[in-house]
Amino acid sequence: MRVFNSLTQRVEELLPIEPGHVRFYTCGPTVYNFAHIGNYRAYIFEDLLRRTLKYFGLRVTQVMNLTDVDDKTIRGARAAGTPLKSFTQPYRDAFFADLRTLAIEPAEHYPAATDHIPEMIALIARLFEKGVAYRSADGSIYFRIAAFPEYGKLAHLDRGGLQAGARVAQDEYDKENAADFALWKAWDEQDGEIAWDSPWGRGRPGWHIECTAMSMKYLGESFDLHTGGIDNLFPHHEDELAQAEAATGKPFVRTWMHCAHLVVEGRKMSKSLGNFYTLRDVLARGYSGREMRLALIGAHYRQSLDFSFVALDAARASLQRLDAFRARLAGLAADKAAAVPPPWAVQAETAFGVALADDLGIAEALAALFTLVTAGNRALDANQVAPADAAAVLALLARLDAVLGFLEPEATVAPPEMLALLDARQAARKSKNWAEADRLRQEIAAQGWVIEDTPKGPRLKKG
Ligand code: AMP
Ligand code: ZN
Repeated sequence: MRVFNSLTQRVEELLPIEPGHVRFYTCGPTVYNFAHIGNYRAYIFEDLLRRTLKYFGLRVTQVMNLTDVDDKTIRGARAAGTPLKSFTQPYRDAFFADLRTLAIEPAEHYPAATDHIPEMIALIARLFEKGVAYRSADGSIYFRIAAFPEYGKLAHLDRGGLQAGARVAQDEYDKENAADFALWKAWDEQDGEIAWDSPWGRGRPGWHIECTAMSMKYLGESFDLHTGGIDNLFPHHEDELAQAEAATGKPFVRTWMHCAHLVVEGRKMSKSLGNFYTLRDVLARGYSGREMRLALIGAHYRQSLDFSFVALDAARASLQRLDAFRARLAGLAADKAAAVPPPWAVQAETAFGVALADDLGIAEALAALFTLVTAGNRALDANQVAPADAAAVLALLARLDAVLGFLEPEATVAPPEMLALLDARQAARKSKNWAEADRLRQEIAAQGWVIEDTPKGPRLKKG
C-alpha cells in the first residue's frame, strides 16, 4: 500500500517497522464540547485507513488520545463549577456514542491526558537533560527550538523566516524565542483547583507534550504512522516530533498523514467560525449515521470536502440503490452456498483493492462498487445470476463492507443518547458504583431498550 507522507512530501510504500503490524497514532478530540462533523471527517479518514490496512492483512494497533486538560476544558469546568473529570465525562461519552453512530471502529487504546501526567513530567525531565528545555521567569517550561536544528522539517518551514519573525514579537513573551512552545504551564488564577505537582512547581502540561508522551508509551519511541487533520500539522505535529526526537535521538514517526478540511461555503468548519454542525444536529434533521458516514468518506482525504445537506441527500439515494441491489441478491440467494463470484463482481473487487492501495483512492473504489451494482442489476434483469452467484456477490460485498462500513443497514443502532447512557453505566460498573449502574439500566429500559451482554461488550437491543 502506498500513501502520501507529509514528511517527505511523496507517495511512498507503507512498510511497518515490525513486519505485518502497523502502529498508528491519531490525535483525538478535546472533550470540552460535542465534536463537530468536521472533526468526524478526520476520524472517518483515519477509520478508512485503519480498515484498509486490515483489509490488506495487516495487524493494526491504533491509539487515539483524549485531550481532557487544556485552556478550553479548564475554562468550561470552572464556568460550570465542577471538577475537570466531571465536566469532560459527558463529552467523552457523547464522543464514543458518535463513533458508534458513524460505525467508526474502536481504536485499541484511548488514553486520556489527565491519566498520564507522570509520563509527561518524565519526558520533560529528559528534555532538560538534553538541554532543550528551560524555565522562564513565570515558572513555565519551554522547548528551546534553537537547540533542535531539525525544527520545521515536517511542516517544511523556512527556519530563517521562523527566527526572523520570532525576533519581532519576542518582547511580548517570557521566552527566549517567540516560537518556543510550552511543555509545562505554571499555575495561574485562571486554573483554579486544576493543577498537578511537578519538579518545577504546580501547573499543567502543554498540549503537544500530551501526544508525544502518550504515543511513545503505547507505541514505542519509533512507530509507523501518525495522522490528523491538516490544521494539526503545524505547530502541533511539528512540536510533537521535536519533543520526541530531541528526547530519544531516534526518528519518531515514519509516515505522517493529514486530511484536508471539511468546509462550508469555502471556509473550514470550526467552532470558532460558528459554521459547524454536530452529529446530533444532523441526526435531528432526520439523517442517519450511515448517510453521514458515506457523505464524509466519499472524497479523497487530501481534497477538501464541501458539506451540504444536498450531499447528504445524494448519500441517501446511493444507499437506497445499494440496499435495493442487496435485497434483490438476497431474495435470489436464499440460503444457497456461495460459488465463485461472476467476472463483473471479481473485476470490481480487484479495482476496489487497487484503488485503495494507491493512497486510499476511495473515489475510484466507490466507482468500482457502483459499476458492480450497474453490472449486477443488468445481469439480474437478464436472468443471468444463479442463486449461488448471488450468494457469492453478497459475500464479496460483505468483504468490501469491512472497509466501507455503510453497506449493512443500521436498523438496530440505538440513538446516541441511549449509547451515552450505556457508556455511563459501564463506567459506573467499572468503578463498582452498582446503585448508579442499576439506575442507568432502569433509565435505559424505561426508554424501550434492553442491554445485551455480548463477547464484544454490552449492546442495546430494542425491547
Ligand atoms: P480538535 O478537537 O480541534 O483538536 O480536532 C480534532 C481533529 O479534528 C483533528 O485531527 C483536527 O485536525 C480535525 N479537524 C478539525 N476541524 C476539521 C475540519 N473542519 N475538517 C477536517 N478535520 C478537522
Ligand atoms: Zn496530538
